[in-house]
Amino acid sequence: MFLTHATRRFYDALLTLSYPQSCAVCSCSVEERRFGVACEECWDATRILSGAETICWKCGLLSDEVSPARLDEVRCRHCETQSFTAARAVGPYEGALRASVLELKRQPHISQYLETLVVAAAKREPLNRSTRIIPVPLHAKRLRARGFNQASLLAQALSRGRRLPIDEVSLVRVSSTEKYRAGLDVKGRHDTVAGAFEVSHPRLIANENILLVDDVFTTGATVSTCAETLLAAGAKTVFVLTICRA
Ligand SMILES: [Zn+2]
Ligand SMILES: [Zn+2]
Repeated sequence: MFLTHATRRFYDALLTLSYPQSCAVCSCSVEERRFGVACEECWDATRILSGAETICWKCGLLSDEVSPARLDEVRCRHCETQSFTAARAVGPYEGALRASVLELKRQPHISQYLETLVVAAAKREPLNRSTRIIPVPLHAKRLRARGFNQASLLAQALSRGRRLPIDEVSLVRVSSTEKYRAGLDVKGRHDTVAGAFEVSHPRLIANENILLVDDVFTTGATVSTCAETLLAAGAKTVFVLTICRA
């Protein structure tokens, strides 16, 4: 569902009136709904990456390398086997960001403040080269149970902020257990590794720079599997953006 800016403002104000709430981090009362579940002070105390930190260029892990010659050459060496081109997050899994991720699993609403942070992260190198946004899909059963996909809400916010098309049809989550069979050929084995995901419309992603979005980057296994599937189906690059990096 797309809401105009004015409608969202109105909706935020209405929520504030009808549900006066306390900050999910410090329990003080939240006056401004635009900050979502946390108060302004807790947001100020939460680490948000600015893009100026030294990080692993590929997976976004903070690095203690001191003044490297080239930022795009910094690597953590833990992410060599992961398939995405580069992954970034708004910040670590702490404070107001962590509270926002937990809330997003319960309520299909992204606060104005979080939206601004996510869009700002997507505007930085190299994610700004993206041409198409794909949320990490939920399995159909899980989607029915929860009623919404939190990654889709993020993708919609990014689509508004970056004026990029959102694609919720190309990447599909399938049951991986059905795919295990003995004596698979090379392609079969690859499909098994790719596991839980399939590309149903390869023409839509051919040669595209995909921005794959999800709420949290934990081990990177999910986004890496999605990236592998998308690249094997013809995508040019797969960038990853999450709210938090655990
Ligand atoms: Zn607070
Ligand atoms: Zn890395």
